[in-house]
Amino acid sequence: MKLKNLEMALEKLDTFERPRADLEQYQTPAPVAARLLFHALMQGDIEDRSVLDLGCGTGVLACGAALLGAARVTGLDLDAGAIQVAEANAARCGVTATFITGDVNDQTLPLDGPFDTVIMNPPFGAQQKYADRPFIDRALREGTVIYGIFNKGSLPFIQSYCEGRATIESVVAAAFPIKKTFAFHKERIREIPVEIVLLRRIEA
Ligand code: SAH
Repeated sequence: MKLKNLEMALEKLDTFERPRADLEQYQTPAPVAARLLFHALMQGDIEDRSVLDLGCGTGVLACGAALLGAARVTGLDLDAGAIQVAEANAARCGVTATFITGDVNDQTLPLDGPFDTVIMNPPFGAQQKYADRPFIDRALREGTVIYGIFNKGSLPFIQSYCEGRATIESVVAAAFPIKKTFAFHKERIREIPVEIVLLRRIEA
């Protein structure tokens, strides 16, 4: 599948019915999702790989990974409503993925791992400080390589937070357009500069 075709397929997916500000529910725009997924595909981290989407929301990244030939795909999100949308989106794409409702912090929750690859667009911590940390921790526990979307400028934090646990292998800059979603959004659309960061776990 070509990048443009993937982008078009993801463009058609349904989004959050009632997005929650406290959970920072922003669907990854199709061009950004396709960028992350193709980057991972080129590194050999999608096709025939087991893939986990942490904080999958409406399943954009999970569906994209399945469309690109992942061997199996699992998505986890706290919000049961979003999981329902993710299931419908997978059906629309004609792919299979397992979607689980649960908290990334819940260490007792079985996720059917280990996984080769974790993909995630976690909360950036704009509403709740440090909301991204449990995602990084869980990702490093479940997967060997992690492709995550972070606010531009997060690299020094990620580097120190992952010290001794993972190395940063690549960073791709992207623009993340956020449409006016919540009352506190003043502009119709705002482009947030983000970085797609590839982390590789350091094996103990
Ligand atoms: N990955 C999706 C959604 C990004 S928004 C996409 O790319 O479109 C961030 C997602 O993280 C939301 O769906 C939110 O419900 C989820 N989330 C926030 N805190 C969580 C937690 N503690 N455990 C699991 N999911 C969480």
